[in-house]
Amino acid sequence: MEKYETHTHDVIVIGAGGAGLRAAIEASAQGASVGLVCKSLLGKAHTVMAEGGVAAALANLDPQDNWKVHFHDTMHGGKMLNNWRMAQLHAQEAPDRVRELEHWGALFDRTKDGKIMQRAFGGHTWRRLAHVGDRTGLEMIRTLQDKGIHSGMDVYMECTITHLLKDGERISGAFGYWRESGRFVLFKTKAVILATGGVGKSYKVTSNSWEYTGDGQALAYDAGADLITLETFLDIKEIRAAVIAIRGISPEIPVIAQLTFD
Ligand SMILES: Cc1cc2nc3c(=O)[nH]c(=O)nc-3n(C[C@H](O)[C@H](O)[C@H](O)COP(=O)(O)OP(=O)(O)OC[C@H]3O[C@@H](n4cnc5c(N)ncnc54)[C@H](O)[C@@H]3O)c2cc1C
Repeated sequence: MEKYETHTHDVIVIGAGGAGLRAAIEASAQGASVGLVCKSLLGKAHTVMAEGGVAAALANLDPQDNWKVHFHDTMHGGKMLNNWRMAQLHAQEAPDRVRELEHWGALFDRTKDGKIMQRAFGGHTWRRLAHVGDRTGLEMIRTLQDKGIHSGMDVYMECTITHLLKDGERISGAFGYWRESGRFVLFKTKAVILATGGVGKSYKVTSNSWEYTGDGQALAYDAGADLITLETFLDIKEIRAAVIAIRGISPEIPVIAQLTFD
């Protein structure tokens, strides 16, 4: 008998915001058995707070727009430190993702002639943000959640993952606890997708959700991954504080920031 409550899936997706839900839908569509794990309730991820809209070069209002301009704006906004290939894919595929959301039931605001409305936004050369009033993130989550739960995946809510497990150099599982009872739970898996969002909660004052404690970054680091470009959003003192907070350890113990940046 297993020592802990145990679930087995081909793929475990950690995080049920826009990123995690979309990844879980895709893995399910490819025939994998998928477990979707999130530390809040399904539908409560930080993604619901996104208000401005989805940047996609649909060129519905400004015909001069195209993926190359979007790519340029993204690289420029990232001071050319972005992973250019990810920025390219993002710019190229965003219009299809917006159309896909509509195909799955989202309803974006319209122009008078029935096209998806787009608004201007900081850093974007043309009017580019497809939106649903000021609740685009909510509509996105509602749509992906509905699509996801009908895709055959198992959802584990209010479950915080604390460790990734490895068999040699390969990921073999994830370990965590139920927030309601504190009981441990083990997920056996061939692959883990980390979609736990950002690190915004390392700031005292932030609009970011309580979930933004960089858990995915810490899980990946502990499993042997390299973390890159942390310096773009935190200074060294903040990185150290964030990592200590994330890992819940004492400042005396060497942590990621001390190892990497001192
Ligand atoms: C106020 C505000 C407005 C914004 N507006 C826009 C906008 O208009 N357009 C735009 O493109 N972007 C916007 N953003 C940014 C955007 O909201 C985020 O980049 C996006 O929602 C991130 O999605 P995600 O799926 O990566 O993470 P999230 O939606 O945060 O999902 C993270 C998931 O991981 C889970 N999780 C975290 N840690 C664990 C753990 N240890 N174990 C299990 N589960 C865990 C959480 O429970 C959650 O389900 C805005 C951000 C803010 C703060």
